[in-house]
Amino acid sequence: MSCIPILKENERSFPSFEAVLPVSGIRPGYVEQIRDEVRVGDILKAKVSKIDKQQNIDVNIMEQGYGVIKAFCSRCRSNMIINDNKVNCSRCNRIESRKLPYGQQRPRGQSEGSYGSKYSKFR
Ligand SMILES: [Zn+2]
Repeated sequence: MSCIPILKENERSFPSFEAVLPVSGIRPGYVEQIRDEVRVGDILKAKVSKIDKQQNIDVNIMEQGYGVIKAFCSRCRSNMIINDNKVNCSRCNRIESRKLPYGQQRPRGQSEGSYGSKYSKFR
């Protein structure tokens, strides 16, 4: 996926980069269907988990606050509305499932953008 860093104030910007989201980085435990967690084209908030000597970068969305922040319908490609644990197509009403940043819990005054986090486009 391609990644764009989220910067805090006074942080030096750096260019977008490519990273890998391993299945083990989606959620703790067993992932039955990857398509119920992320789909091609979704926009995720992810965290860098590993950079190796060859500069290969892994990200994960396991923690609270990370996951799909924008989803598109796999049937009609319309923007989906995030509702509790599900996402709902605004055009054809299809319901899909995603790994969402907060599940059914609401964020509690968490600030946006911490070091090493960024928006990524899954593909
Ligand atoms: Zn749709």
